[in-house]
Amino acid sequence: MTSKNDITGDPIISKSGGKDYNDGWDKIWGKNQKEKQKAMTELNYDGDFTGWSHYCEEEKTVLEVESGYPCNWCGKKELDN
Ligand SMILES: [Zn+2]
Repeated sequence: MTSKNDITGDPIISKSGGKDYNDGWDKIWGKNQKEKQKAMTELNYDGDFTGWSHYCEEEKTVLEVESGYPCNWCGKKELDN
């Protein structure tokens, strides 16, 4: 079953979850959702975005993550850095 936003047609996705959740995410949604997330992060970074960066073992690149939230991909938290 697939839940979709009636207006945009985008899949409705919860941000919560750990590594297992992200593995499932890859199977269900593929990498495109991650690319969207990265694009959003880059956009936000030009404005009032406050966050922290880390080398993400899942994405194999440095990612910016919103302050106070764990990384969506590897589950790393700001305080773990
Ligand atoms: Zn990460």
